[in-house]
Amino acid sequence: MSALFSAPGAFENDDHLASLLQSLPGCAYRCPLPDPQGSLLVNEHVSDGIYALTGYSAEDFWFGRSAWKNLVHPEDLAAVQREVSAAVTARRSFSLTYRVSHQTGRDVWVLDRGHAVYDEKGLPIWLEGFVSDITDQKETEAALRDSEEQLRAMLDAQPECVMVVSAGGRIVKVNPAGVAMLGCMSAAEIVGRNVLTFIDPDHQDAVRDLHVQCLDGAAHDKPYEVDIMEMGGKGRCAEVRLAPLKSSDGKVWAVLSVARDITDRKRAEEKMEWLATHDPLTTLPNRAFFQQRLQLATSGSGKRKAGLLIIDLDNFKQVNDTLGHDAGDALLCETARRIRECGRSGWTVARLGGDEFAVIVPNVESREGFAATVETFLQRLREPVSFGGKVLDSRASIGATLFPDDDRAPSDLLKNADLALYAAKAAGRGRAMHYLPAMRSEMQRRVMAIRQFKAALDEDRVIAYYQPKIVLADGALLGFEALLRWRGEDGQIQRPGSAASAFEDAELAAAISDRMIGKVLDDIRSWLDRGLPFGHVAVNVSALEFRQADFAARLLDTLSNRSIDPSHFQIEVTETVFLGHGGEGVEQALRTLSKAGVRIALDDFGTGYASLSHLKRFPVDILKIDQTFIHDLAQEGEDASIVRAVIMLGHNLGMKVVAEGVEDLRQAAYLQAQGCDIGQGYLFGTPIAGTEISADGFWDRMERDRKRWPNILSALSSPAVVELPRRAKAKPA
Ligand code: C2E
Ligand code: CA
Ligand code: CA
Repeated sequence: MSALFSAPGAFENDDHLASLLQSLPGCAYRCPLPDPQGSLLVNEHVSDGIYALTGYSAEDFWFGRSAWKNLVHPEDLAAVQREVSAAVTARRSFSLTYRVSHQTGRDVWVLDRGHAVYDEKGLPIWLEGFVSDITDQKETEAALRDSEEQLRAMLDAQPECVMVVSAGGRIVKVNPAGVAMLGCMSAAEIVGRNVLTFIDPDHQDAVRDLHVQCLDGAAHDKPYEVDIMEMGGKGRCAEVRLAPLKSSDGKVWAVLSVARDITDRKRAEEKMEWLATHDPLTTLPNRAFFQQRLQLATSGSGKRKAGLLIIDLDNFKQVNDTLGHDAGDALLCETARRIRECGRSGWTVARLGGDEFAVIVPNVESREGFAATVETFLQRLREPVSFGGKVLDSRASIGATLFPDDDRAPSDLLKNADLALYAAKAAGRGRAMHYLPAMRSEMQRRVMAIRQFKAALDEDRVIAYYQPKIVLADGALLGFEALLRWRGEDGQIQRPGSAASAFEDAELAAAISDRMIGKVLDDIRSWLDRGLPFGHVAVNVSALEFRQADFAARLLDTLSNRSIDPSHFQIEVTETVFLGHGGEGVEQALRTLSKAGVRIALDDFGTGYASLSHLKRFPVDILKIDQTFIHDLAQEGEDASIVRAVIMLGHNLGMKVVAEGVEDLRQAAYLQAQGCDIGQGYLFGTPIAGTEISADGFWDRMERDRKRWPNILSALSSPAVVELPRRAKAKPA
């Protein structure tokens, strides 16, 4: 204080003023004008506040140890002098901010406000003013600027769309990510528009509500999903969070909206969901989806009937195996397309897996109407499908059932349709069958048979039986037909008929066939080793087994592995092997076997559908007249004519003819008289186990019968006896 007032000419006359000045943070000053150094900044008087401001004392200034001009930052000095000079000249006050150096070397920002004092002539004599430290304020301002800068940088770098939306719904600010998300080039295209113009119409009401709630002060921390409309109209999906923006008085003036683009995630989720419920190849719903629909269709009271169809391609495996997977895929896709086309809106069409499809027909009026619908599907699927210049076998079988007439539970209905489908397949494929309760017991029988047969295979209870074939002209043993037998769980010997369904199971049939052929070859080997004159053994091979690609090659391999000459082996096939697809493969296999010396017999001739051209085309050596014709020889003249005709036909084609099921002498005599080459039946021997054939007694009996045969024949060859088929019905002894 004393320092201030000791200075000559300072504020010495006013104690109050001096004390006030002293208490103010800052420094009052006075400089003479014009100042001796012409710098305008040589203080004559400074108040004590100078120390806090600069670290120099007032005395330093009085004694010229320090001068204001020397403290002003060199970069600011010229401007300060210019401004002060201009103010003096213009007779106005000045207010300047600039930097001065503190004694410690740091910069101090000051606000320097002052004016000149003029004498009565109007010449400036003093410059006086007040300098205050505004460093804190400056730093705060800088910090604020920095933080704003940071905020902007953060928003710019934000991958989410950040927008400020006014209370009226106009977009006030948007960051670059927002510009991109809304499909715009710049913020200018967005700012000023109503936020709803970017929202899908379906979501606009909800978004409006959320904004209103937010303006009422509610923050939405739970994200809300909306579909966004980009400028181009292409939909994106976003997850939006809203927060109220409040001014210092606590009023909400805008809404901060942060939107995350979840389009990719959404699409991925949708795709996952689609994949979980659809088949990618045909794009049809899959089994899981179908089951939900079936549940739904059968959940009602049952007043509305619903139909269920299971459609299965008849020869898909063959198409796949012979023409490749592309053909298989094309067939599946075309089938899917046709089934879909046959359906109407509201129907469910699904691919259950493999070559199996299903349809749910809702609101069925009547059983007859449903049958007609099923027929439409069948007809449509019968139309040829071509692929790569080839016509694919596209026929299908259908199993159908009706809710609630047949059953109510979805699982039962599916079982019904499956049973009906199975029945359609068993009845020859390419047809539709409606479920009947009897199908269930039939299926149970089948399942039982398969189970029993599998057990017989596993426990090696399969046995080969043999039935002799006799040359009718001289009674000589020509060979045997091998017939499948197995010992049942009760020890009884079983015949194939008791497990017919086991043969329909392709895998099981192949296993049976392999086992049977193995047994037969073992027996042949042992008979050869013992020098028994057994001739040959004919083995029955079903169409299913025969269609296995490597059947012929495998058979020949096994024969040669056991050193069995193919002339000791024959195969019997029925006409069904010639039918259906894969005819070329069958022909090839038959030729391979035939060329190797394996004779081929056509079994059950006269009962099937083979055309006579098959006889020419395939290498058949032997015709076996079906036993039904032989059986009725005694009763019907017609059968006798057929038998005669078949014998003639066979001979004309260079084949040997075998009569099956010969049970009595008269049949044998008639056949012999007609020139039939070979007889087989109970008359000559019932099927017996291989072990019996190994026994000496068998060969003794054979030899005895052979010797008696010419006598029997001549005894029977009187015209009356040979004419017998037309007259006599008597059973032979
Ligand atoms: P198939 O090939 O026509 O065999 C002749 C059937 O007639 C045999 O029935 C045989 O026991 C029976 N039989 C023989 N002589 C007479 C007779 O004088 N009167 C009567 N009424 N029947 C006679 P089986 O053994 O029950 O075989 C039935 C069918 O099972 C066979 O008919 C054949 O198609 C099939 N089969 C038999 N063994 C096999 C085999 O190893 N593999 C395959 N795939 N099928 C076989
Ligand atoms: Ca046979
Ligand atoms: Ca037969």
